[in-house]
Parts: sequence; C-alpha cells; structure tokens
Amino acid sequence: MHADPAHKSKRPFGAERRFPWRCRHCGKSQVVLSTLSYDAEVRHDGRDYTFTVPKLNIPVCRACGKKVFTEKVDAQINAALRSHLGLLTPQEIRAALERVNLTQKEAAERLGIAEATLSRWLNETQIQSRALDNLLRVFFAFPQVRKALGGQEQDRQLGVADSQRTTA
Ligand SMILES: [Zn+2]
Repeated sequence: MHADPAHKSKRPFGAERRFPWRCRHCGKSQVVLSTLSYDAEVRHDGRDYTFTVPKLNIPVCRACGKKVFTEKVDAQINAALRSHLGLLTPQEIRAALERVNLTQKEAAERLGIAEATLSRWLNETQIQSRALDNLLRVFFAFPQVRKALGGQEQDRQLGVADSQRTTA
C-alpha cells in the first residue's frame, strides 16, 4: 500500500472536496451529503441481486434529486452486498492473512490470483465471487491446503490423483 494516500491517483475515502458540490445534472451548487435508505440492484458473479442499504451516505442534489455515486458510495454498497451474501469481509481477510503470516503478495501467488485483485477485495472496491470466497476459506482454514498451493513450486500432479499423505 502507498504510505501517503493523498497521493494516490484515485480520490481516497474521506478526502472528497467540501460540500456543496456543483450538480453535473442541473448545474446548481446544491449537492450535499445525505443519508437515505437505498434499494440497490447490483450485478455480481453473473447474477442480479436486490437488497436495501438502510443508511447509505450519498451526495444528493437538493435541487434536482440526482444521486452522485462516488467510490465511497460504491464501497458502502459493496459492503452491504457482501453482508447480504455472507462473504468474508475485508477485516476477516486481513485478520486471516495475519494469522497465517502471509503477505498479500504471497497469499495472492499461492491462491493464483493477481495481487491487485486481493487488494481490491481488501479495499472494498470489488467483491470476491462465491467460488473464490470458498477458496479463501479453505486456504485460511487448512494448513495442508496452504502447503499444497505452493505458487510456482506447486506440484503439477496435485488433484490429478488422490494425494498421498505427506509425512511432514
Ligand atoms: Zn441537480
């Protein structure tokens, strides 16, 4: 991660410019941060999900009612979808990485995913599929799995036949 989030290219959470903003829809400077119950419809993992986010903090134009979807808003919707689907949260993934003593880079290599993908899950900008959530759970739950998924040194015969019991 970058040491200084203010220098990231994407606008980081909590560093948004001050309200009111100028509305891109009606042109009035009437966009203020509002809290509302939002019915989200999100396509994820090949399916459409409908769920309610009870207290969404979202910039809304007081003049025309237009909602402004920022990264911060998306993150709240993603968090609500994760909870709706019962997937591992970023906090749980972080805690598991710490417990098994792997860096994000090491874990990503063993899991066979891009480090950037893992980073997006941890930053709440993307949600893992059910299949990858299951892989994460198995990976973090069983030392044998972490041992078997060895990144570049992985046995090419893994899964081809029943594994012989390792003595180690
Ligand atoms: Zn407006």
